[in-house]
Amino acid sequence: MTPTGIRYISSREQTMQDRTGALGRLEQVVSTPEEFERVVSQALPILLERATNSTKRFLRETGQWCDDVAHEKFALRWGAEYLEQFFIAGRSEVPCRPLFLLDAVVAKQHSRPEPFCYHPDLLTPLGRLIDGLVSRAAISRDALIAVYYHCFGLGPGQVITVLGLTGPAGQRIYKNFKRWRDSGWQRTMDDMGITECEVQDLCSQLQRHPQPSNSEAERIIRIAQSHYRKSEPDHYPCLSRRQWEEMFLEGYGSDYRIWHLALCLDCFTAAWDLGFRGAAAIEKPRVEFHVRP
Ligand SMILES: [Zn+2]
Ligand SMILES: [Zn+2]
Repeated sequence: MTPTGIRYISSREQTMQDRTGALGRLEQVVSTPEEFERVVSQALPILLERATNSTKRFLRETGQWCDDVAHEKFALRWGAEYLEQFFIAGRSEVPCRPLFLLDAVVAKQHSRPEPFCYHPDLLTPLGRLIDGLVSRAAISRDALIAVYYHCFGLGPGQVITVLGLTGPAGQRIYKNFKRWRDSGWQRTMDDMGITECEVQDLCSQLQRHPQPSNSEAERIIRIAQSHYRKSEPDHYPCLSRRQWEEMFLEGYGSDYRIWHLALCLDCFTAAWDLGFRGAAAIEKPRVEFHVRP
């Protein structure tokens, strides 16, 4: 579930003046749920930044920080998770000062025994594999493209068609596939500590019971996607069928298409046939999980 207020959290268009004003309002008491929602919705970039910075500080203080993209994305998506919890909790916490309520929500999460466990179902072998794949996708374009293969069995040509890519953007997809098959997949398995034996077990499980295994995979994919999609606020919001249609027809937003459709099953299903431009009647895609690259 995505609260509507959390849809646009990119900070690009906010000026310094907007920010100072919004910060002041967040320190004042809000008395009703509606007022809470309004004040908070107008200040999402500031709140996201604050939750993200608290998370960075927590990681530094606990010796878990490292200056790289992976850690930046990690802090960003946890900031967004906390912001979402704050947005839901806040309505019943009025009267309150939103800025301080956010701090309290974040501090409470950080004091839990496992502050960064977003779902217990990801501790099974299949859960770890999907979590590893999708977490990699948040920082590696090769892994992001591989999601289309692992989840739906699409090959490079199909990925290019489904995403409506043309020219060099299309050519790059072949390179993504090749690098992933040559080394990316194996490196991800090694990093996640997933053994060859576990891989074999998962493969035979999928072969013997394709239907229940794929339903289970779909359930886990949705959980992982909604978490990791938060790593990139600019490409986070879901679009309507009309908006996707316009994007495909006009040919803009290829990064948006590549990122979001890999990490959102609902939008992927909604936009599925747009790349074909009416060339053929195609069945809706179904999750058909592939363990090996
Ligand atoms: Zn746990
Ligand atoms: Zn979506």
